[in-house]
Amino acid sequence: MKNLWLLLSVAAAACPLSARDLAPDYWVENVMATDDSVQQSLVFRTVPGVAYRVETTENLTSWTAGDEIYGMGHEYVVPVREFTPPPPPPGGGGGPLHTAPVRRTVSLMLKRSNAPEGGTVASWPSLGGGGGVTVLLEENLGPGWDLTPLFWVSEGDYNFFIWHPFLPAAPPTSTPSLALADQGFLSELEARLPAMNAQVAINEIHARNAPPPGPPAPGSRKFWRVHADWSVDTDGDESPDWAEFEMMADPLHPSHSLADPFESDTDGNQIKDGSQTDTDIDGTPDNIDIGVGDAAVSEVISAPPRYALFPLPVVIQNNARRAPLGINDRGTVLYPRTAWRNGELISLKASTGTLETWDALAQNDAGEIVGNGKLTIPSAVPGLADVTVLWASPEADPEAVTYTDADGKVLHGTIEGADRGGALLSNDGHVMIAGSKWYSMGAGGSLTQGELGDGPALWKLPRDGHPAARAPITPKVPGLTQILDKDTYWGYDENTLKSRWGGTTPAPPLDNRIVKVTRSLSGTLTVFYDQGPPHRRYVPPGLGWIPSAIFANATDLAADGSAIGATSAIRTAPMMTNGNWKELVAMAPQAAPPWDGDSVHLSDISPMGWALASEGEGGETRFGALLPLRLEGRLARDGQILKEAAGVDAMSIRSHRPGDAVLQRQWVMVPSGGSTPLTLRAPLNEDTELKIEGANLTFGGTAGSVTVSSDVNALSISAAATVASGSEIPLKLTLGGTESVSYPIAVKVMKPRVIKVALFKVTKVFTPPLGPLPANDPVPNPPDIVPDETALETYLNKIYQPQMNVTSDIIPVAAPVESDWDVLGRNATLDIAGPDSHSSEQETVLAAAGPGPPANIKLFLMGTSNNFGGTLHASGYANRAARTCWVVAEPLSGTTTGYLNHIIAHEIGHVIRGNGHPGEDIGPGQLPGVSANTRLMTTKPNPAELGNVLVKEEWDEAETWMKMEEAANRLGS
Ligand SMILES: [Zn+2]
Repeated sequence: MKNLWLLLSVAAAACPLSARDLAPDYWVENVMATDDSVQQSLVFRTVPGVAYRVETTENLTSWTAGDEIYGMGHEYVVPVREFTPPPPPPGGGGGPLHTAPVRRTVSLMLKRSNAPEGGTVASWPSLGGGGGVTVLLEENLGPGWDLTPLFWVSEGDYNFFIWHPFLPAAPPTSTPSLALADQGFLSELEARLPAMNAQVAINEIHARNAPPPGPPAPGSRKFWRVHADWSVDTDGDESPDWAEFEMMADPLHPSHSLADPFESDTDGNQIKDGSQTDTDIDGTPDNIDIGVGDAAVSEVISAPPRYALFPLPVVIQNNARRAPLGINDRGTVLYPRTAWRNGELISLKASTGTLETWDALAQNDAGEIVGNGKLTIPSAVPGLADVTVLWASPEADPEAVTYTDADGKVLHGTIEGADRGGALLSNDGHVMIAGSKWYSMGAGGSLTQGELGDGPALWKLPRDGHPAARAPITPKVPGLTQILDKDTYWGYDENTLKSRWGGTTPAPPLDNRIVKVTRSLSGTLTVFYDQGPPHRRYVPPGLGWIPSAIFANATDLAADGSAIGATSAIRTAPMMTNGNWKELVAMAPQAAPPWDGDSVHLSDISPMGWALASEGEGGETRFGALLPLRLEGRLARDGQILKEAAGVDAMSIRSHRPGDAVLQRQWVMVPSGGSTPLTLRAPLNEDTELKIEGANLTFGGTAGSVTVSSDVNALSISAAATVASGSEIPLKLTLGGTESVSYPIAVKVMKPRVIKVALFKVTKVFTPPLGPLPANDPVPNPPDIVPDETALETYLNKIYQPQMNVTSDIIPVAAPVESDWDVLGRNATLDIAGPDSHSSEQETVLAAAGPGPPANIKLFLMGTSNNFGGTLHASGYANRAARTCWVVAEPLSGTTTGYLNHIIAHEIGHVIRGNGHPGEDIGPGQLPGVSANTRLMTTKPNPAELGNVLVKEEWDEAETWMKMEEAANRLGS
């Protein structure tokens, strides 16, 4: 008997967005398979708009990807082992075994059309690549569908996985040109819809598949897991599919009318849906919300940081290594008697005059430090006062904090609650002193001392010339020790084992110990408990303290929503950026050992994002400071600033499956002999200056290096003309005397190149015998729209020059190519072959065109009365091997020279950077299942926002291709 093991888990590479991102609901059930055997099966319920991948393994090391399912709310059955064998075939005699046909599973949404002429609106994720497809079928949905939200049927070549929302929808306004695979599916759908209507009518309804029998398990054990991808965005409108399904299913949702997972601009207002929908109704549109679906999280997406990692020196005190107390916005790491800043250790001054300090306890983001000490009171009988000590900066003299009241009593007291570390000094200069004491000097220098006994008091430290001030807490809440600001403080009662809360904000749940409270840029408070999650966020005014799914596994938060989490079996040193968890090895790229290992932990992140890391155990623990760096690249087109890291696009940042070469580092393309302007954002200041160095690079006119010390720094990087094209140079980053052991930013140098594009204008003619001509296909037929050559060059240069250092030289061929190319079927369509090959119609045009001028790429602008009939995208096709591009200015409404220029740029991209699109699983820079509208190479360009981003993997492929062209002496420069 073979043992089979079931294991349902998320893939380790997945980055849970929320609790929903864990394994789907599943159970084990005996299910009859298509051969009438009974299969013990794993069944899970899909969520509409979430993509699932079933994976199996025998050794838990290498996993084999199996079924890919786009969720529509159905149950999905995966056979695991045979429970009862199939019955013998009727009539005995061993006939051939029934084998289930291999079918493609298509997830489909069917809605009644609300147009007077009726029909059915069918939508599905394109079978030919990224993007969604919406078409109007003439057939109406039968009445049986009114009771059938979910329907599964396997017919012909397809498993139809259908969701039927009850609300009718408007039909699409135009007929899209479909990929071949979609055309085939559409024909079969049209043919089978009447039969489906009949099945639904007699209640033969299924919301789950009948599986083919599972294969026998070859090994002694087998494991299954299901990877759930919640980031799928089929239409590329930057609202994830699952969120659009959710809004679509809820007619009362404010964004209901804009929700369609397969349509990027549902209301046709030229603004993508994701910037108008707000799934969680938190005021932040989906396309910039780091927590779509989490009403407690309204932080907005920012350029994702990558971190420089600076190892800290060992700090010994009383013969033991000391752990840092925390890190602040100035990049200062505080130890009990020392501070590390700008790569150096600074000893805190221990005494001055009558004051002797104890250990420092806490610092704030302004650089102030507090601790406790003893003040010698000069009197006839000298006494001692326990006082709070303030260092205005790590270099400053310590100063005793006392307050003289109206009676001449000198009030003093110490800070408590330091055993848990944390918030003892607020950024607005307040500390909580649990029990204040006093002394006063009588006549002749006699000393009187006592306790005030009025409970904890909020002390305002001396600052900017004002003296210390003291205010008792009202109402009197004992046990308050920790403070965020003058309105927010808390503590813990060791007797009741409950937290205490004070200040103007209503109290959060207090059953667990509060260890930290943070405030976001927009003012949202987050409390962290020692036994958690759930942490709570305060979302005024209506929602109060609610749990946040996104931050459920966070241990600390920066003000912009960047977070750190605890190291676990799934992730080492997790850091969250824009709602996605990534490990430190990705966030601090190429970190040197031991920082790339499994024993790294994160303990603190400051509001502006400085973070503390540790490595190792006990007395051997090492510490490091993490500095976040964000690059904003400039795209020349319309002066648009790309808010994302250079070499990366917005969809990659949001995706769970970005691909390492797309996202791991921040890449800057620097032209050899030229410069690239950038903006570097980092929490730097006059005390903490970052030196940036790169071999053979010049920074703003200074060879070799530049030092920056502001939050926002303009940075211009140039490369010498002698640097070999394709060179990749990681930048060396230094704070004072300490060099970063990670390399978050790297430069790719590319030399200037000119790509020569011969532009052929193809006029369609018919030569005898004319045969049956297609209707409405006049001849001769020149291209309808012809781009201005200078405007086209400018358009191409704006895209390719800043990203790949490539300019284009359009060489118009004066004489039109007159060709009777419509030889296949006379269907007014340019029939094409697969990638890297030409159809006979294309061969006909090539023969008529002749060799033409020397060029890297031949661009054919086709005259036709029909739609281009392209298979991969709307109006263009490229053959990379032959270096040809085929583009039609078809007389479609909305087609403009600007759109035509964009399609030409896209097709030239196929020759330069290769076949495939971001949404497909071939070619560079993949984001499977995502249309990626910010990319030049998307299949579904949004007319309102023609994407132009080319990512690092595309630069690499282009560099390889251009070197081949150079080797063949075809490329100019
Ligand atoms: Zn394409």
